Amino acid sequence: MANDLAEDEGATAPPLPEPGPDDVSLIEPPTCDDCGAPVRLYPTNYDRWVSLATAELPAKNVPARYRWRLMKRYARHSSMVVDLVAVRLRGIDPLLSELVVPAHRMLCVQDEDEP
Ligand SMILES: [Zn+2]
Repeated sequence: MANDLAEDEGATAPPLPEPGPDDVSLIEPPTCDDCGAPVRLYPTNYDRWVSLATAELPAKNVPARYRWRLMKRYARHSSMVVDLVAVRLRGIDPLLSELVVPAHRMLCVQDEDEP
């Protein structure tokens, strides 16, 4: 079920590795395996990960199937933000000028016909 949804939405990115307690190096910003462009990896609300573009774009420049939004997830009984969750905009038509986060797939130069 989550797998079908993940396939459909392109939420097939590998999760970020948890930094170990002994890891003192700076965490490298993630990049796309296909085109090397910087991406932002976010968990979805159904336990999958998606690569999103690093900049927001007005909704009019992003095809509906690539529109995502980041939602804050709060700690229980608190207003502290513990996490950001990527949520695909489905069945909602944002205003054309509204900023959305495009899936990286929209910008990826990878040619799927090549091996
Ligand atoms: Zn790419």
